[in-house]
Amino acid sequence: MFKAIFLQKNEQAEFSASLAQLDESQLPGTGDVLVEISHSTLNFKDGLAICNKSPVVRQWPMVAGIDGAGTVLESAHPKFKAGDEVILNGFGVGETHWGCLAEKAKLKGDWLIKRPAGLSAEHAMAIGTAGYTAMLCVMGLEAHGVKPEQGEILVTGATGGVGTVAIALLSKLGFTVVATSGKPEQSQFLKNLGAAEVLDRKTLSEPGKPLQRERWAGVVDCVGSHTLANACAQTKYGGTVTACGLAQGMDLPSSVAPFILRGVTLKGVDSVMAPLAIREEAWRRLAKDLDLNKLSSLSRVLPLQGAIEAAGQIMAGANTGRVVIKM
Ligand code: NDP
Repeated sequence: MFKAIFLQKNEQAEFSASLAQLDESQLPGTGDVLVEISHSTLNFKDGLAICNKSPVVRQWPMVAGIDGAGTVLESAHPKFKAGDEVILNGFGVGETHWGCLAEKAKLKGDWLIKRPAGLSAEHAMAIGTAGYTAMLCVMGLEAHGVKPEQGEILVTGATGGVGTVAIALLSKLGFTVVATSGKPEQSQFLKNLGAAEVLDRKTLSEPGKPLQRERWAGVVDCVGSHTLANACAQTKYGGTVTACGLAQGMDLPSSVAPFILRGVTLKGVDSVMAPLAIREEAWRRLAKDLDLNKLSSLSRVLPLQGAIEAAGQIMAGANTGRVVIKM
């Protein structure tokens, strides 16, 4: 038997999320690697799934948890053997395949990466999909030639999981980071992470003109909607905006003006189906470029039974930093 955050719908299609005891024989037969999960985490998407806020879960019942770190117990996959330390991010786990907010998970070896030396399982889950997505955004800026001497980088949704890790990474890489946040009381926390300035998110969240004063050499946007539109409208000639999130909304009420008049690049970032080589590079970079003391300062550790309440806080926009779940 093992414990898991179990999401179900009954015959009346009423949703419930609970801490359940499940039998190992119930684990999905499609997985070829059995992993003892030591740590998982709560991302925005886990919040959506556990609170049933949007159709993240596409098969019922489901074990939640899009991220996991742990030790291989059994493997029928040639790349892994018992005792290997592994990380799982995304690939539909916790959506269409039973996930990692559980003491055990049966996963596909093609989805797993070996945990880099220098990162503990707790570090890996303090990073989680949110932090690995932040790294993908930073790599997206770099791939488009954004350099520290070109000017300030805007990070929106700054106190969230992606935003906090993005600030820590960018500041360590020598960029000047400007954060936008709806939590003025967290300004000092964001500055301690490496933000040079913190703006009220209202300065970007309302409808704005298609072209505005040029300020940003690059952007990491976690928020979408008017915020992303305004960020594009304020990006300098030739700059790059990485878009990974939708905390404000899925819409993009923008115009083509920043792209056709200022040569701005809008670079989409997806972590879920990112190819293995890109994931491995992102994790290699995280092990090298993330200050682990800063990572500790932005994460808190909860037991599995705390996951449902913490998911509600994420959905209320009341979360700061990263939540690690220790089995
Ligand atoms: P969090 O919940 O940790 O943080 C989101 C942050 O966005 C909040 O802390 C808040 O920051 C800000 N925010 C919340 N509500 C609003 C609002 N209505 N308007 C403007 N800002 C708001 O989420 P994550 O950091 O984990 O994820 C951020 C986004 O990125 C999410 O939309 C998530 O779905 C997406 N994502 C996408 C991935 C991909 O593969 N593309 C992978 C991971 C995440 P503050 O109070 O500081 O403004």
